[in-house]
Amino acid sequence: MTTITLVQGDITRESADAIVNAANSSLLGGGGVDGAIHRRGGPAILAECRSLRAGHLGKGLPTGEAVATTAGDLDARWVIHTVGPVYSTTEDRSGLLASCYRESLRVADELGARTVAFPAVSTGVYRWPLDDAARIALDTVRTTPTSVTEARFVLFDERAYEAFSSRAG
Ligand code: ADP
Repeated sequence: MTTITLVQGDITRESADAIVNAANSSLLGGGGVDGAIHRRGGPAILAECRSLRAGHLGKGLPTGEAVATTAGDLDARWVIHTVGPVYSTTEDRSGLLASCYRESLRVADELGARTVAFPAVSTGVYRWPLDDAARIALDTVRTTPTSVTEARFVLFDERAYEAFSSRAG
């Protein structure tokens, strides 16, 4: 059984086996939660991202996929980087957003991570409406078979926390 918990706060302050990053496909850093994770996690994370890019992820990490690195100085063993889709009003990309959560859980299972902290992927610069993102995130984590025992959503502001709370029921 996976217990879903919601907290409001900064994911870089969380303690978990794995912390999920809403990365971009370059894996070389960005703004939002990605910038915060690299800032607090220190250079070891970027160094490992660079070596992934030099290896099998030469073209970057595709949208909807996930890959793990060290968590550097964060209070976690791993960072799982996933690339959310940019929201579109003309195309339904919800399968790709669901895939971010499913693939992150699959990578967590491979690593043996039992507690995983997630941000609200795609709801910042990628503009996904919070209520819809919360529905997809919660439905996907609820229905994906996994050995993860705690999936903790770490929502940065009150609006995001409320959107997830009203869906978590
Ligand atoms: P994306 O490009 O996937 O939209 P962003 O980082 O821009 O990624 O935003 C994703 C979500 O992460 C947004 O809801 C944003 O408010 C939130 N966020 C930003 N910084 C943090 C942080 N330090 N901890 C948790 N969530 C954060």
